[in-house]
Amino acid sequence: MTHNLSLACPNCSCGFTTNSLDCPQCGFEATWRKEIPSFLIPTDTDPRSWLDQRELEQLAERVENGSIRDATRITLANHDYQTEEMQEIFDINQDSWRILTSQNISGRCLDLSAGYGRRSMALAEIVDEVYAVDVNLSKLRVLSAREDHDSCQNVIPIHAELDQLPFPPGNFDTIVADFTCSNGRNLRERVSRLRRYLSDDGSLILILDGWTRRLGIPRLVGLERQPPNYGDFSPATPSGYRSVLRSAGFETMAIYVLFPTAHSVEYVFEVGNEHGVRALRQQIKSSLTDGDRRRNALQTAMWFGEQTGALDYCYPSYCVVGCPKESSQSDSNSVGFKNPFLISGRTRSVVFDFGSNGINRVSKIPNRTEHISMTERENHVLSELRTKNKPIVDTLPSGQSARSKFGTVRHETPIDGQPLKNQIGGDIESFRQTLQTGYDWLAEFQQTFRGETVMRSPKEINSDLSFSPLDLYSPEITNSVQLFRTPVHGDYLAGNVYVRDKTVTNVIDWEYGALSGWPIIDAGLFPLNLAKYVFGGVEDGFRALFCTDTEYAKVTEEIIRNYCDSVGLTYRAFLQYLPSVYLHRMKIDWRHNTMNTHSKKLKKRISRVELLRTVPIDSTDSK
Ligand SMILES: [Zn+2]
Repeated sequence: MTHNLSLACPNCSCGFTTNSLDCPQCGFEATWRKEIPSFLIPTDTDPRSWLDQRELEQLAERVENGSIRDATRITLANHDYQTEEMQEIFDINQDSWRILTSQNISGRCLDLSAGYGRRSMALAEIVDEVYAVDVNLSKLRVLSAREDHDSCQNVIPIHAELDQLPFPPGNFDTIVADFTCSNGRNLRERVSRLRRYLSDDGSLILILDGWTRRLGIPRLVGLERQPPNYGDFSPATPSGYRSVLRSAGFETMAIYVLFPTAHSVEYVFEVGNEHGVRALRQQIKSSLTDGDRRRNALQTAMWFGEQTGALDYCYPSYCVVGCPKESSQSDSNSVGFKNPFLISGRTRSVVFDFGSNGINRVSKIPNRTEHISMTERENHVLSELRTKNKPIVDTLPSGQSARSKFGTVRHETPIDGQPLKNQIGGDIESFRQTLQTGYDWLAEFQQTFRGETVMRSPKEINSDLSFSPLDLYSPEITNSVQLFRTPVHGDYLAGNVYVRDKTVTNVIDWEYGALSGWPIIDAGLFPLNLAKYVFGGVEDGFRALFCTDTEYAKVTEEIIRNYCDSVGLTYRAFLQYLPSVYLHRMKIDWRHNTMNTHSKKLKKRISRVELLRTVPIDSTDSK
């Protein structure tokens, strides 16, 4: 271990000066287990764990002997809790509150209930070092062995519990404690205990469940009361948490909503921010076609809020920021933001900052250091494209890049219009119009920016349509195909196209963009995305549009053929290059190690590439 550890005897606070964990003063003895300072006897029970002890140990051994990617793939294959476990290990969006609280995160940091270390690694990207404390030794072994973050080396695993923390008083500038999934008993006592280890101008950040999560509903609506000696279980509400902090010696600086829950964070905003509530309603409305789980959680919580007239009290999870009472910190509302509403994204979070007249500014902030290059990609592609003096440039978002604690960020001015996806109705006419609008913009874009025409040989096509790291290989190709090179958007979805009066005003979110790609990357994704809304899924949509003889298929073919004619592609080339739609995004995700490569999404995309290869081509004329 290269670190000069800042450890002290949990009993008498006498500092440990060497690598020895025996206290010279009181005789307390701790030990190194698997090269981790251990102040606890390892136990087999961890109520927070999705895996049992045997599985945890297997996982730890595999990470110690290989990569965390392979270890999780093998250990979690077909596991009942695969999704939850992958989220716990990899889903950096759970930590996106960092972006709104970054002013309170610095120096030496303690991360309590660190588990596999995902949050610790995220914190270590913006502080000097993180002491990652957990009661589960196997999880700490995973933390200690994982090498998938540059910040790993600044994270120090410590096997200990809150009651016996091995640190000197005032040791930390920032303490983050995850108290979710624990009962609310003794919260006051636990928070007071933490105060001791925090410097006087430090910050405490707590991740907590709300009462809707703990199902304390009857108490809040007055149907029952608590026994007088129930303990210090205080209501899991913002005002309850404020009072817990106050009595433990802290001033509450801010309380953020983590929505829908702390373990699946889609939105973050401050309690009482009315812009946040309005934005949340808007999101619920426009995300109706997304996964049901999310929609139900959103709607249920909003319903509770409306029923009780106390929405602020009803969110399932909170992030509470406190400072010691004697601290000189002034109002610590997120630096640079007035009324922020954060939306989690795949590689970066988007923050809408509200002023009195609506959204003042849109900021895109990388979710982790490794994703900075995605924001830089967007900045680079857009600034290159915007140098051209052509009308279509007005539909490209204007923005500037800036430096921040989180690396390069992008600030954009708010855009005008409504997402094109809102125009998709249940009838074929609205489908035709939406499809046409999408292709009209794309044809003009590609005609404006296109590069050279190229003839791709069978060998080149094979390479274009394969991706060896994922064992995706094109079937044997015998024909050549004429294509042209063009900048691509890479994520050309109806939700990223904004329109007003049937005219495209903006095409947003270029983080999958590239200055040179194949035209079908965007031209193929767009109809598949529309089909998802009309037919309930991309797979069914693909079959309906490209493998049947329905009205929808006829409309689609007609519009695509017109598009192909206008840009100089054959319809056959379009069909043959359909798999490039998902290959493009997978290649970028793989290069940047995004969450998509650690979730079921990867499997889904692989199967989509294979599905798109089944498009009937041979009967198609070569026009
Ligand atoms: Zn001692």
